[in-house]
Amino acid sequence: MKTNEGVNGDLERKGFGDLKDLALNLHWSWSRASDELWERLDAELWETTQDPWVILQTVSKETITAALGEPEFSGRLAEVLAGTRAAYAGDAWFQKTHKDSGLKAVAYFSMEFMLSEALPIYSGGLGNVAGDQMKAASDLGVPVVGVGLLYGQGYFRQQFDSAGRQRALYPVNDPGQLPIRPLRRANGEWLRLKVPIPGVTIWLRCWEVSVGRGKLYLLDSNDFANAPEHRCVTSQLYGGDAEMRLKQELVLGIGGWRLLRAIGIQPEVCHLNEGHAAFAVLERARSYMQDHGVGFDVALSVTRAGNLFTTHTAVAAGFDRFDPELIRRYMTTYASRLGISINELLEMGRADTGAPEPPNSKEPFNMAYLAMHGSGQVNAVSKLHGEVSREIFGPLFLRWPKEEVPIGSVTNGVHVPTWESEAADKLWSGACGQGRWLGTPCSADDVRGMSDEALWSMRTECRKGLVAWLRERYARQLALDGEDPAMAAFIFREDVLTIGFARRFATYKRPDLLLHDPERLLRLLTNPERPMQLVLAGKAHPADMAGQALIEKWNKFLKREDARTKIVFLSDYDMRVAKEMVQGIDLWVNTPRRPWEASGTSGMKILVNGGLNLSELDGWWAEAYDSAVGWALGDGKEHSQDPAVIAEQDAIEADAMYRTLETEVAADFYAREGIAPPARWVARMRESMAQMTERFSAARTIREYAEEHYIPAAKAYASRSADGSAIGVGMAAWRSEIDKKWAGLRFGAFEMTAVGTRYDFKIEVFAGELSSDAFKVEVYVARGWAVTVQPVLLARSEETGSVGATVFTGSVAADLPVEAYIPRVVPYFAGASVPLEAGEILWQR
Ligand SMILES: *Cc1c(COP(=O)(O)O)cnc(C)c1O
Repeated sequence: MKTNEGVNGDLERKGFGDLKDLALNLHWSWSRASDELWERLDAELWETTQDPWVILQTVSKETITAALGEPEFSGRLAEVLAGTRAAYAGDAWFQKTHKDSGLKAVAYFSMEFMLSEALPIYSGGLGNVAGDQMKAASDLGVPVVGVGLLYGQGYFRQQFDSAGRQRALYPVNDPGQLPIRPLRRANGEWLRLKVPIPGVTIWLRCWEVSVGRGKLYLLDSNDFANAPEHRCVTSQLYGGDAEMRLKQELVLGIGGWRLLRAIGIQPEVCHLNEGHAAFAVLERARSYMQDHGVGFDVALSVTRAGNLFTTHTAVAAGFDRFDPELIRRYMTTYASRLGISINELLEMGRADTGAPEPPNSKEPFNMAYLAMHGSGQVNAVSKLHGEVSREIFGPLFLRWPKEEVPIGSVTNGVHVPTWESEAADKLWSGACGQGRWLGTPCSADDVRGMSDEALWSMRTECRKGLVAWLRERYARQLALDGEDPAMAAFIFREDVLTIGFARRFATYKRPDLLLHDPERLLRLLTNPERPMQLVLAGKAHPADMAGQALIEKWNKFLKREDARTKIVFLSDYDMRVAKEMVQGIDLWVNTPRRPWEASGTSGMKILVNGGLNLSELDGWWAEAYDSAVGWALGDGKEHSQDPAVIAEQDAIEADAMYRTLETEVAADFYAREGIAPPARWVARMRESMAQMTERFSAARTIREYAEEHYIPAAKAYASRSADGSAIGVGMAAWRSEIDKKWAGLRFGAFEMTAVGTRYDFKIEVFAGELSSDAFKVEVYVARGWAVTVQPVLLARSEETGSVGATVFTGSVAADLPVEAYIPRVVPYFAGASVPLEAGEILWQR
């Protein structure tokens, strides 16, 4: 049927518009719905880039017009669009369960976001967490808005030279080729923001990325109005010196908050994904001061209730720290806008609060400390990392028992639809339907209903897919490295146990542990009855020479004739490589030195695909491991960092790893009765999938953040800001009173009497000038470090004691020796988080 030209033109415009809408929403990075459309437009380009926006920009108008004229194509396009629009218009988990919670917007700040290889603004784990959480928030309808930086070059790209050494390359991210849109003002003008840097102003450009139903906003400084030096501020992720990093963090924290205000977003909650963006807490307080006409102390008391800080670092050396002189140079003017002195601002990034200058004038400015001092809630990213963090943030909570350092944990999870293979998707859909990651999780019993045959055939299909992809990818890599690409046809077999190891090549991750005894590794790989093959990938930071040496070591080793077809080291580990690997491998190996891996996420990505983990008892695996679901490395203890001890421990763990690989992993994988699937292997797969996939999914993580952190934070912020910031004003006065008068507190007479099965306490406290409701008196019960202790509150008594003293009394169950009961005074204000917001404490002994 022919239509007249006008209608045809309209349809065409609509078709183009529809395709553009689809390509500009990164929903395609976790849904296969539109794949066939892009493939139809340019199969080859689709295969190499998997990037709809690049395809749309590249193919000719004629090709698109022709495709739109095909009923099959336009029908599919309409169907996909209708599907996603309906999904985003409807109520998701959050709207159904927490509609009236008062939570309207969470600003999620992160230095990196790993959403797709089409938007290379990430390095690794931290970006992965941010990207996967943004996607899960979209799935569940949690109102999260991302804030990050658009890097002109991103993180470096990796290639190997003919000697196997890493080369760092910096291709340019052309914004026109990225799936992003510039933000414009109502009049069509580009939205540009100003951030003050001493002496000058940096102009920032603003971009919008659609992530399902959510948005990510990005800032970049490559504005022609800027001096060349400042145009480069957002060039590279984790490049440059400390000063460059500080500028980036100013842009992210201060610029990021200004961006949200400029577009009318007023988040109740600000989530700092690592300390990099901690300046946002200052800018948030500054905005509050402006809007409400209050001072900085009140503004901070109110706004910090809405700030949540997630720490990702497992060693104190990992914190971002700046020379105080640098902070003075960059932030003196800014401090005056907050109405505080630069020294007061510096104190916010230091542990040694209260100590007057000069004793701590050299102490660096620590971004994680700033985040702690500006937040109402703090969490680590696994249970073990919670313990580690309570230790390394100890200096901020002097004299507090370690277990009371106010850092909880929310274990990371991965966005399952992003990492799941097509075969796994089919299997899971059969067992528990399509909506399984959207709020109604698949039950463990649904998974346990999957048959051995179905599981094994999924596994086999996934492995075959990986081998086919690897051969192509490796051929390309060999050609790039100046070698013969034909060799790639001979690597790997489809039926061989396939091991994956991919991560940042940092020494603490021990990427050479598998190579500890090269001959033994080779014997395992080439065992004629139970062979194995190994895929490696990973970058080492360009300044990390030790990490790069480990890459070179592997590359040299795998050039050996007997290793060449068994081991492949893929260059340029990115999301695409990760996706292929986690879908296809049978066994994922992780060898960090405990407790340096805060969480680790790559091992979670394989769960949905039926891969199994062999990992050090560190990060998430320390809480997930069970012999029914995988294998553990190490003794679950921390060891000394003495080089001799390290060497000895590495040898012990390498030996144990080889043994496990041989006597358990390979033995189980190859235990076949005829054509039946290997029973023990499949049983582990099933349990691993049933017990862990949902538990370590970003859907679970986001529900936990929403219910236990975002909603309470939004409520606390609302309550502190209500009635002209009444509570905020009260808290600021309380804080100031504690600062000035705490030192006058002391204990007086003390009696502890055993009465049957309890102890009765009577204790005098001299409060000095401190008002009697600014503190409370408790009995701390020392049950040992491992347990969370609930101190027992003592009541203010009418009894009279010494002149000027108040008497406190109460009873405690007497199940421990006398020494275990220690009276103490701690600050108190209704609704305040102590010791986070007031770290003072006075012990009776
Ligand atoms: C998942 C992922 C990471 C993080 O993995 P870890 O287990 O935390 O090391 C890093 N880089 C890429 C490309 C990833 O996909």
